[in-house]
Amino acid sequence: MRALLVEKGEDGKTSASVTEVAEADLPEGDVTVAVEYSTLNYKDGLCIGSGGGLVRNYPHVPGIDFAGTVETSDDERYKPGDKVVLTGWRVGEVQWGGYAEKARVRADWLVPLPDGLTTRQAMAVGTAGFTAMLAIQALEDQGLKADPILVTGAAGGVGSVAVALLAALGHEVAAVTGRPEQEEYLRGLGASRIVPRADLAETVKRPLETEEWGGCVDAVGGAMLARILGQMRYGASVAAVGLAGGPGLPATVIPFLLRGVNLLGIDSVMQPYENRLRAWTRLAEILPMDKLEAMIQPATLDDLPELGAAILQGQVKGRVVVDIA
Ligand code: NDP
Repeated sequence: MRALLVEKGEDGKTSASVTEVAEADLPEGDVTVAVEYSTLNYKDGLCIGSGGGLVRNYPHVPGIDFAGTVETSDDERYKPGDKVVLTGWRVGEVQWGGYAEKARVRADWLVPLPDGLTTRQAMAVGTAGFTAMLAIQALEDQGLKADPILVTGAAGGVGSVAVALLAALGHEVAAVTGRPEQEEYLRGLGASRIVPRADLAETVKRPLETEEWGGCVDAVGGAMLARILGQMRYGASVAAVGLAGGPGLPATVIPFLLRGVNLLGIDSVMQPYENRLRAWTRLAEILPMDKLEAMIQPATLDDLPELGAAILQGQVKGRVVVDIA
């Protein structure tokens, strides 16, 4: 089977190339899937490159997401021919993932392909889109009372899907981007306001600023998240999803204490099955498929080394869909 294999040289440096790999080398698991599509997330960029502390053993096949057809199954929940999706569970990090014609995983980690989505569309969503849905569900569970809703890292994967979902749900969306050339793209997804990244780049000077945002999906973290906390409306929530701008949080606790602002942590990797189904079902119901199509950048396994480096530089727009079959 063809796979993108990452190998580590004696000098400790990694290199990724498309090569033939024996099926017998697949990890243990109870379901073998013929992979049709995979995708590219920020984490995949790390795993294609240096490993970013995520990959334990080499040679390694990255790909934290895949969708395809069950080929063999030792688990009664799945039978040959079933369409399935996998995101998270550290597949593509600590064990081989979706950048190969076949993948073998535990049945517990799979979800059935949601009605209304193709395997290609499911990978246009991928971990990034699934996480955007989890973030919006978390905001809704806290009560989304007022607009606008802010989305940071908006032209990226999580951000693009979050903008499209929030707009489809009828919210007024403000999109933060460092790429002014993506304004038309973001307005096409449903953003009604573009906020230049530079407007939120400075570190916190005043712990409370004018109340602006009724909610926020934050893919950036760092100084930007700290600034945003001080701009949230009374009682509003921020879903902390990512760290594209850094893992630090140079903030004060004042917005929590004086404005009852909530900071909600979002993890897509270890989400329990029921919540996964809830998110995938809603994605299939809500996400406008024409908007999803507009986010797609098609790719093959051969494109991944270059794209992996690009996503780490914040240079990928929307969602890369990797055609494996
Ligand atoms: P992308 O690279 O597609 O998007 C990130 C976006 O953030 C970029 O497109 C860019 O948007 C913006 N950005 C990049 N660098 C900076 C910077 N230095 N300062 C401010 N903004 C910046 O990645 P994903 O959308 O796949 O992932 C986004 C983040 O979410 C990552 O940190 C990722 O690790 C995390 N993540 C977390 C998950 C979880 O389970 N919690 C699951 C999935 C992702 P623009 O050009 O529009 O400014």
